[in-house]
Amino acid sequence: MAGIYIHIPFCRKACTYCDFHFSTRLVGIPSFVEALKKEIIARAPEWKFGVVETLYFGGGTPSVLSAKQLADIYQVLHNHYPLALKEWTFELNPDDGTEDQLRSLRDIGIDRLSVGFQSLRDDDLDWMGRTHRSAHIRSFPQKVKAAGFTNYTVDFIYGMPGMFVDEWLSQLQWAADENIPHMSLYALTVEQKTLLNHWIRKGRFAAPDESQQADEFLAADVFLEKHGFQHYEVSNYAKPGMEALHNSNYWYGEPYMGFGPSAHSFDGSQRRWNVANNAKYMRGLDGENDWFDYEVLSVEDRINEAVMLGLRTQKGIDLNRVAGIGGDQAVEALMKRVEESDHQGDLIFDEGFLVLDRGNWLYADGIASELFCGG
Ligand code: SF4
Repeated sequence: MAGIYIHIPFCRKACTYCDFHFSTRLVGIPSFVEALKKEIIARAPEWKFGVVETLYFGGGTPSVLSAKQLADIYQVLHNHYPLALKEWTFELNPDDGTEDQLRSLRDIGIDRLSVGFQSLRDDDLDWMGRTHRSAHIRSFPQKVKAAGFTNYTVDFIYGMPGMFVDEWLSQLQWAADENIPHMSLYALTVEQKTLLNHWIRKGRFAAPDESQQADEFLAADVFLEKHGFQHYEVSNYAKPGMEALHNSNYWYGEPYMGFGPSAHSFDGSQRRWNVANNAKYMRGLDGENDWFDYEVLSVEDRINEAVMLGLRTQKGIDLNRVAGIGGDQAVEALMKRVEESDHQGDLIFDEGFLVLDRGNWLYADGIASELFCGG
């Protein structure tokens, strides 16, 4: 199931913990939209993956664009790519948009929203530099429902300073009571070029407590499963049938094209990424400088990626996929590495998949690196 990702590199304000690519100079939006449309058209001959089944507008904050700008971008996609969308996801913040504005998103074809709740505590939201309040979050489920959306996902961050497991679970209880169909839960992480990292280095705050994060991760796993969610990827929970199609493509190695500054593309063996700089991106599309780079993944790289992404999912590592990349000998070599590792007891062989016990999901990346070819 191939998809398209569009990166909208603007935000109204910088959050303290965020290292995604964005600019707060919103005056640059109109010229960015023109450059984006140019890229979409110029790269259309690269699309060779059948129909486009998923579309994802992420960022940044895609909701800084007007309905007209969004409709224009969609029209360009529609004119140049074989769209047969099963899912069109759009990221926004809880304080974005009135019911009418949300309805206009629905009218242009968006059928799934991804909303950055992050925390129901106003103190946390202040500390994170978010623009919304918990009151925006509490009224959001009603607002999206009234606008006609039945499919949406919300993000929460755990491991916040001064958060106790009870408080964390009370936020999830609220979300479960509101029948929210999908949630992404992320541990607070300290990225290098962020204000949060600066504060921690200056001693204003302690670094996140890993044992607190592990407790909250495991508590959420038990709690949400009891409330009818499937924990289908390390950070993602869905009610049955509400799994994210676009993000699942990434985990299962499907091809995708990404447009906009910092967006990545993958065609099965080549990974390409656009420059994470709005001015360079726009000048590049005018032919003034280079604006993307790429690498061709080796067979080993592709197997390692299948191992790393697979271990993070409920399905596990797809051994057919590994065989498709490196032949039966690649599967045999992987099974041998499993046997020789300290994690044999944490991995279950299940109908062609190698599945990591959920109690170890928090450590999936480290375990994967021990199973890498050449690792
Ligand atoms: S977390 Fe989201 S809203 Fe905040 S700066 Fe990052 S991309 Fe923008």
